[in-house]
Amino acid sequence: MSNSGAMSAHWKGTDAERIALLACLERNCECADGQGQTCSAHKILIAPNAQKMLDALLFYRRFREYLERKEDIANRIPLESTAPSSRRGKR
Ligand SMILES: [Zn+2]
Repeated sequence: MSNSGAMSAHWKGTDAERIALLACLERNCECADGQGQTCSAHKILIAPNAQKMLDALLFYRRFREYLERKEDIANRIPLESTAPSSRRGKR
């Protein structure tokens, strides 16, 4: 890779997160369609704002995992203990 003054993006996540990103790119890559053009998935990596986009991808990936953990914890709580006591007013 040349160092021509162009900014390059760096993945700030873990190795596992990098592998997941590469797998996602591979699943969505359309570069091999014979057109010789870079697909949208790979354009993310070479866009002028690539660092911002990679950082955002990492942020939202981790945020999703956080929400899934919270949801998993919430799903372990029996419904009876979280349901509002509106049953009394049921007609
Ligand atoms: Zn591609």
